[in-house]
Amino acid sequence: MAKQFLGKEVVAALNDRIMADAAALKEKGVTPTLGIVRVGEREDDLSYERGAVKRCEKLGVAYEKFLLPADCTQEELMAVIDQVNKNDAIHGVLMFRPLPKHLDEAAVIKALDPEKDVDGITDGSMVGVFAGTNQGFPPCTPQACMEILDYYNVDCTGKKAVVVGRSLVVGKPAAMMLIKKNATVTVCHTRTVDMPSVVKEADIVIVAAGRAGVVDASYVREGQIVIDVGINVNAEGKLCGDVDYASVEPIVDAITPVPGGVGSVTTSVLVGHVVEAAKRKNA
Ligand code: NAP
Repeated sequence: MAKQFLGKEVVAALNDRIMADAAALKEKGVTPTLGIVRVGEREDDLSYERGAVKRCEKLGVAYEKFLLPADCTQEELMAVIDQVNKNDAIHGVLMFRPLPKHLDEAAVIKALDPEKDVDGITDGSMVGVFAGTNQGFPPCTPQACMEILDYYNVDCTGKKAVVVGRSLVVGKPAAMMLIKKNATVTVCHTRTVDMPSVVKEADIVIVAAGRAGVVDASYVREGQIVIDVGINVNAEGKLCGDVDYASVEPIVDAITPVPGGVGSVTTSVLVGHVVEAAKRKNA
């Protein structure tokens, strides 16, 4: 039976650090503040927003919402980005994506102040991840995976790691972060040949494919650590990951459940970035 790497344990440790940092800033008269930019009312966005707002409130971080209708113009959205960029009281910005199709998302991201890019979406933040520097902020989800590995004292040095998925939001930055931790990394995607053999080779597996149950018992072996990033809804309407938990858990050494794994850590990482942005600005 695998050890469960539980999001709530990692979150508790992270939250202690974030609250202490937020309190220290408050003593200096600085309230770390997140600007939330939302276009329209997509249920996914609203649900993530509720989680982020709750976590901000718990950790002593303020927030301000900038809401636009789904049919807003590019100019209206750009004006909001300009407003949050110029507002010294806002330290970090969360902008929900994808934006409605009529808006030029790349132009909006380009306009965002990289120092406030707490969600790691600007080119500047990507450079930071790929160069292994502290420029901008890494995307929150792959950082959440690293926080889980750190919390459970997984030493990545010299280990073989496989990342399933090559998106710019999760897969690619996760691979770069594992390299920074001295792992030897392979990235799988839809054109990978014989994925079960490739995944079986790994000591550490991060799965971010967006397909329920894409990694099952035939992909894994004893001794592995499996981090499941996926968030899917199964035929019974229940949340599930990209890993077939029921068949994989009895085989591997450690695994993150879904729900209860990466997702909740991601929210604390975001709030932690807001506090870090406020610290950098007031250093
Ligand atoms: P994405 O942009 O759709 O990318 C999926 C990646 O997985 C692509 O690179 C794709 O390969 C690869 N892939 C898809 N099916 C595959 C298969 N059968 N075998 C091998 N590779 C496959 O998704 P994403 O944004 O990275 O998100 C991935 C998952 O993480 C989703 O379930 C999403 O809901 C979840 N997520 C969770 C959090 C969290 O906080 N827990 C945050 C963000 C995302 P190609 O490039 O070849 O198409």
